[in-house]
Amino acid sequence: MPKMQIWNKAMECMPREEMEALQLRKLKKILHYVYDRSDIYKKKFDGIGFKPDDLKSLQDLSKLPLTIKDDFRDGYPFGMFVVPMEQVVRLHASSGTTGKLTVVGCTKNDMENWTEVLARMITMTGVNSSDVTQIAFGYGLFTGAHGLQYGMERVGATVIPISGGNSEKQLMVMKDFGTTALVCTPTYALHLAEVAMKLGIDPRTDLKVKVGLFGGEAFSEEYRQEIQNRWGMLATDNYGLSELGGPGFSGECELICGQHIAEDHYFVEILDTETLQPVAPGEKGEVVITSLSREAVPVIRYRTKDISSLNYEPCDCGRTTARLSKITGRSDDMMVIRGVNVFPSQIESVLVKMEELAPHYQIILYKKGFLDDLEIRVELSEEAFTDNYGKLEAIEHKLKQQLYKTLSMNPKVRLVEPFSIERSPGKAIRVIDNRDK
Ligand SMILES: [Zn+2]
Repeated sequence: MPKMQIWNKAMECMPREEMEALQLRKLKKILHYVYDRSDIYKKKFDGIGFKPDDLKSLQDLSKLPLTIKDDFRDGYPFGMFVVPMEQVVRLHASSGTTGKLTVVGCTKNDMENWTEVLARMITMTGVNSSDVTQIAFGYGLFTGAHGLQYGMERVGATVIPISGGNSEKQLMVMKDFGTTALVCTPTYALHLAEVAMKLGIDPRTDLKVKVGLFGGEAFSEEYRQEIQNRWGMLATDNYGLSELGGPGFSGECELICGQHIAEDHYFVEILDTETLQPVAPGEKGEVVITSLSREAVPVIRYRTKDISSLNYEPCDCGRTTARLSKITGRSDDMMVIRGVNVFPSQIESVLVKMEELAPHYQIILYKKGFLDDLEIRVELSEEAFTDNYGKLEAIEHKLKQQLYKTLSMNPKVRLVEPFSIERSPGKAIRVIDNRDK
C-alpha cells in the first residue's frame, strides 16, 4: 500500500498525553468564554455552583449539565449565539421533526477551523488534488455540502457542486467530467448505482469513482459492502451534527477501522444511556460532544443521542486521534416492541445480507389490539423476483429465521416488487410509525 497522506501530522499524530493536555487547556478557556458571554450557560453553571476555574481535569467536565437540542429550539433563532451578528459570517440550520429550525452560525475563525478539519477528513479517505469530486448532498441551509466543498478545495480537489437529485444528470456528469470521488448519503449512492444499471452504465467499469464520502445517515457494515460491490469503490463514513458545526467532527481513514475524531477541536464523552454517567473506556454509550474552538455557537456537553464507543489505540494509518466506532443506533431510534429493544440498524444488517433481497426497506410500527407490533417491507432483488409462490415462501421463511436470530422476535414481513419502495435523494424514510393512528 502506498504511504498514506496525513493533512496535519502535528495534530493528527500527537502523543496521547499531549493531546489531553491540549484539550484541558482549551476546555478551561472555552468554559470561561461561554460563562462570560452566554446567559444560558452562566445559568446552568451557577445552578450547580460551578465556576469555570473549578475544572481541574478533563473528567471534571462530567459535573456540568448537558446541553440538548431543545436548548437550541427554546432560544430560536439565535439564543445559543455568544457573539454579536457583526462577527457572524455564515448561518446554517437543520430542520427538526417539530418544524422549528436549529440555527447555528460561524465566525471567520469558525469557517477556517471547519475547512481545516474537513481537509484532514478528506485526506484520510485518500482523496487529494488529483481527484474530481461530485457533491450530491443538497446545498441550502444544510451544512454537509458546503463543508465538504471547502475541505475539498483546500486539499486541491476539483469540486462539482451538483447538489442532490436528478440522478440521470448526476450520472451523465459523473461519466463526462470523470468524477473520482462521490459525496452524498449512503442511500443515494445505492440509488444512483441502480439508476446507472437501468441506463446500461456499470458503475464498476464505466465510471471512475473510486471513493465515496458518505454522511447524513448511519449505515451498517453490510450496507457499506453493498455500495462497494456495486460501485467498485471504497465507501467511507463520516459523522457530524449541525449543532456542532456539521461534518468534520470525525471520519474514517482508508483502513476503515473507526472514525478519527478532530480531538483538538472536540472533546468527546461516552455516557451510560440510563445513568448519564461516563462509561469505562471502550464501552458503548451515548456520544456527548463539547466544542473546544467554536466561537459563534460554542456547545458544552451536547447530547447527540447517538450510540457508539471510543478506541484510544493508535491506528495503523499513523494517526493517534481517538476513534469513534460505528454508530449502532440513535437512542431516539430505538423501538421497544413487546419489551424487546430493536434498532433499525439491526434489521438492516439482516436484510442486506440476503442476496434475494434488495437493500430497500421500510419498518412499519402499528398497534395490534393494545400491543405494539412491527412489519418489515422489503424489496426482492431483480434476480429473485418471481411469481413462483413456493420460491417466495422459501425466501420469506429464510428471512424470518434470520430476523429471529438477530432480534429474538418474529416481526411480520412482506416481500414487495423491486423498485416499489420510494427512493429519496436525501435521508431515507426507514421507520413509519402508525401506532397513534
Ligand atoms: Zn486510521
